[in-house]
Amino acid sequence: MRNVVILGGGYGGIQVLNGLLARTLPDDVQLIVVDKNPYHSLKTEFFTIAAGTAAERDVRMDFPNSDRVQYVFATVEKIDTETRELMFSDRTENVSYDYLIIGLGCEDNYHGVEGAPEYVESVQSFSKARHTGMSVGNLKAYGKVTVVGAGLSGIEVASEIRESRSDLNIRLLDRGASVLRAFDPRIQAHVADWFLKNDVDVLHHANVEYVEKDGVCNNGVCYVNDVTIWTAGVQPHHLVRALSYDKDKQEKIKLNEFYQVPADPSVYVVGDCASSEFSPSGQLAGAQGEAISDVLHAVLHGKAPRVPKPPKLKGTLGSLGSSDGFGNMFQQPFTGWLPRVAKSGVLWLHKRH
Ligand SMILES: Cc1cc2nc3c(=O)[nH]c(=O)nc-3n(C[C@H](O)[C@H](O)[C@H](O)COP(=O)(O)OP(=O)(O)OC[C@H]3O[C@@H](n4cnc5c(N)ncnc54)[C@H](O)[C@@H]3O)c2cc1C
Repeated sequence: MRNVVILGGGYGGIQVLNGLLARTLPDDVQLIVVDKNPYHSLKTEFFTIAAGTAAERDVRMDFPNSDRVQYVFATVEKIDTETRELMFSDRTENVSYDYLIIGLGCEDNYHGVEGAPEYVESVQSFSKARHTGMSVGNLKAYGKVTVVGAGLSGIEVASEIRESRSDLNIRLLDRGASVLRAFDPRIQAHVADWFLKNDVDVLHHANVEYVEKDGVCNNGVCYVNDVTIWTAGVQPHHLVRALSYDKDKQEKIKLNEFYQVPADPSVYVVGDCASSEFSPSGQLAGAQGEAISDVLHAVLHGKAPRVPKPPKLKGTLGSLGSSDGFGNMFQQPFTGWLPRVAKSGVLWLHKRH
């Protein structure tokens, strides 16, 4: 048998799997999905887990049930590209691969800020978002929460916590002169106005020097604080950073036009671990996953694959609680309930698909 191993069943991995399951595969092909969680996680919604506004069941889904797929639910601790095996921290039997698709996502980048690895909460994995939700939920009345980073995930986390708990003192530390640096000024103004009206304190030109158990020090001023949530940068998964393949400046793996590692074309990379001209997103990971399933389908049948077309991305949507939002649709900036409804619609479609 030829083992096709999908490592990580997140936004990218699930599209590779669905794409392959939708087609006829040669009889000697065994699909194996490896994930530390026994479900597909909707990472784009982890801010709701951190804020306590959604049930876990709303942001995860069962993997497809098919006799073509074998599932290994265990935590990988090493990818051995010499022996072509995955090794685990909680399983003794290795998994060997003939073809490997790496879709492990990303993790926090603390940029060397002292105290951050020990004391901050995170939304970068299900278990971390769950831990954040517990910390926020257990806060006494008028507790203090600081969100470091005012990009898309920081905005969603801070606004969702405000919607969840009106009593909390919430502070958002923004490195730039205005929130959401990469977005249209109309969107920036709408989001700034939402935070003003909803009593979230936004501090611009932030430069966090260190984090302590009960405080955050920014630009020489230390604030007493109960929970600090880090949304100020990500990097590829540590297993990917440990691989010796050629990488870009952000330590993402450089790929050829078929999403293959040039030095080892039986290894594919999807999503946040793949070097790309586009910003990382669930949408991009999904588009890459679809393309990889096309390429692999041809390769597994012994045919030359077609070069995938560049991904067509439809814009970014963000939420400000459950009834307000923002985003770019049809290359136009939108604010208010319409982009919020559209975001819910995208999630609904992803779940149905
Ligand atoms: C709060 C937040 C909001 C976001 N909002 C949006 C949005 O609105 N739109 C958008 O497009 N993108 C959004 N994103 C980004 C998006 O979630 C990611 O870009 C996307 O999930 C990347 O997909 P991926 O397949 O690379 O990795 P992921 O979807 O993260 O999947 C990685 C998989 O690997 C598994 N895994 C990790 N480590 C191991 C291990 N050691 N062993 C076994 N399995 C492992 C995980 O369990 C997971 O299933 C948001 C992200 C966050 C944090």
